[in-house]
Amino acid sequence: MLQRTFSIVKPDAVRNGHTASILAEIEKAGFKIVSIKRMSLTEEQAQGFYAVHAARPFFGALTQFMASGAIFPMVLEKENAIADLRKLMGATNPANAEEGTIRKKFAESIEANAIHGSDAEDTAAFEIGYFFAGYELK
Ligand code: ATP
Ligand code: MG
Repeated sequence: MLQRTFSIVKPDAVRNGHTASILAEIEKAGFKIVSIKRMSLTEEQAQGFYAVHAARPFFGALTQFMASGAIFPMVLEKENAIADLRKLMGATNPANAEEGTIRKKFAESIEANAIHGSDAEDTAAFEIGYFFAGYELK
């Protein structure tokens, strides 16, 4: 089933000049980039995006980090997109990420880990709607 997921090239990867390399990995893996833009988040916008993590001890640091520089939010499409992107990203902590994954290649730390990917259909729908209007998703 053709499926859409949501991803972000995070501020560490943009600062380190890895945006194009990460997009190349995503395209090589067979994803269509349906929509993409460059922007920065306010801390408030980052808190809204990561609201599911509001109770976690790292929430403040995480949302400050996500507001620390430019990001590239994007919508991706492919068969089995949600699970396949998570596989391509690798483990949250790059120290545990498999060889060949985006986080193994480009992440700095468990917090500054280069890329976000939705973890389920309901979170993908919320996250796409948080960043993109319907007319940007043709
Ligand atoms: P993402 O949601 O960004 O795709 P994930 O699903 O692999 O990552 P989550 O558990 O959803 O991981 O955590 C969201 C983000 O919070 C992580 O990507 C990371 O940037 C940060 N994070 C997670 N665990 C920690 C931690 N123990 N310390 C600091 N930051 C963390
Ligand atoms: Mg997550």
